Amino acid sequence: MNVYDSERMADSLEKTHNLVSDPRLADAILLNTCHIREKAAEKVYSEVGKFSSLKNKNQKLKIIVAGCVAQAEGKAMLRRQPIIDAIIGPQAYQVLPKVLSLKSDKNKIFLEFQEEEKFSKLGHNRNRALLSSFITIQEGCDKFCSFCVVPFTRGAEYSRYADDIINEAKILSKKGCREIILLGQNVNAYYGKDRYGKKINLADLIQNLEKIESLERISYTTSHPADMSLDLIDLHRTSKKLNPYLHLPVQSGSDSILKNMNRKYSVKDYLSIINKIRKKVPNIALSSDFIVGFPGETKKDFHNTLQLVQEVKFAHAYSFKYSKRIGTKADRIECKLSEHEKDERLQILQGLLNEQKKDFNKSFIGRELDILYKGKGKKNNQFRGTTRWMQTVVFDGRKEDLKNVFKVKINGAFDNCLMGELV
Ligand code: SAH
Ligand code: SF4
Repeated sequence: MNVYDSERMADSLEKTHNLVSDPRLADAILLNTCHIREKAAEKVYSEVGKFSSLKNKNQKLKIIVAGCVAQAEGKAMLRRQPIIDAIIGPQAYQVLPKVLSLKSDKNKIFLEFQEEEKFSKLGHNRNRALLSSFITIQEGCDKFCSFCVVPFTRGAEYSRYADDIINEAKILSKKGCREIILLGQNVNAYYGKDRYGKKINLADLIQNLEKIESLERISYTTSHPADMSLDLIDLHRTSKKLNPYLHLPVQSGSDSILKNMNRKYSVKDYLSIINKIRKKVPNIALSSDFIVGFPGETKKDFHNTLQLVQEVKFAHAYSFKYSKRIGTKADRIECKLSEHEKDERLQILQGLLNEQKKDFNKSFIGRELDILYKGKGKKNNQFRGTTRWMQTVVFDGRKEDLKNVFKVKINGAFDNCLMGELV
């Protein structure tokens, strides 16, 4: 979502400013930030610190911090790092042109929650169209999982107007985009209005987007298990454009931990969704998020998570050590686990998940797949693309032989990518 937001901020400045990627050439530096885990938030201060020598050389240089760290820390940020000139929360990016023209003694803090204003004022044009592009369709969250800062930093759940989203997708596709990834903190809770004021859900929206002819692939992320509707599950069977990929974070395989996390589903509920979707699309790539070492997680709870992973068999996953976030409910639960124990659990879980990813990827060896071009690989003459299951494929070739979508025969598999040769 920060990638999308950064693109939109850049779009909103393009007519009036020159955008440069080297901070040494800039009159203003904009940092977009994430507050989800402590490590990400702390990184911001070390990044800002790196710019102090540039600020010493150029007193007019403006340093602006945008995003969820700005929202969560507010004034405290300016006290801790006085070289910051302004902070802008994730629902206030429309003020950016104004902030760039501000004198330094003016108000420096912009943290209002005005979602609609943000999207309408940022406009619906998209200057940057990649072959695979993001569109945020829903922001914020009302679920209040006990470990999570999102409801505090991104605000209440909000769905954009369907017509604005479709319009944005049309602009992107005219500019060459072939895959759209719909984004939301709870994307499957999307419930926006169409031009007649009728409420439409994510499945309806996807069906509308499918009508855009040059669009070949559609994905959506991140979904919450409690919002996984039957029509969305069924759309995976009937849709020609929806990627066979579902990122559905479970977080833990223990019912008591899920309850303390306030996740609003049980292990049985989660497995029932997985069974339903596998019946419709047997080879779907299933992905998840996991938190290990949540306060009170016993050996048995952790064992239950491993058991769930064994049962589901994931194609892809993100896993994290629980990170204490001030102001959340979980922060008040006593945590007896040492860092070492958390590290050990994370390693065991990731070992198992990596094996499963490799197994999933191996099942593609020998197949010819349609690949969407992504960019250069690490080595000379090497390129990258993605499958419809959202795997990265690495192969040798010449740029002039590569179209937007082309066939690659898979001849190798690792846990994080496939290897192949151009057909
Ligand atoms: N809305 C999505 C997830 C959004 S946050 C959902 O509910 O599934 C992305 C991921 O960050 C979460 O799935 C969770 O695994 C992780 N995360 C969030 N807060 C965390 C914390 N305090 N410590 C560790 N991981 C966290
Ligand atoms: Fe955070 Fe996701 Fe829970 Fe919302 S549903 S509070 S975004 S983890």
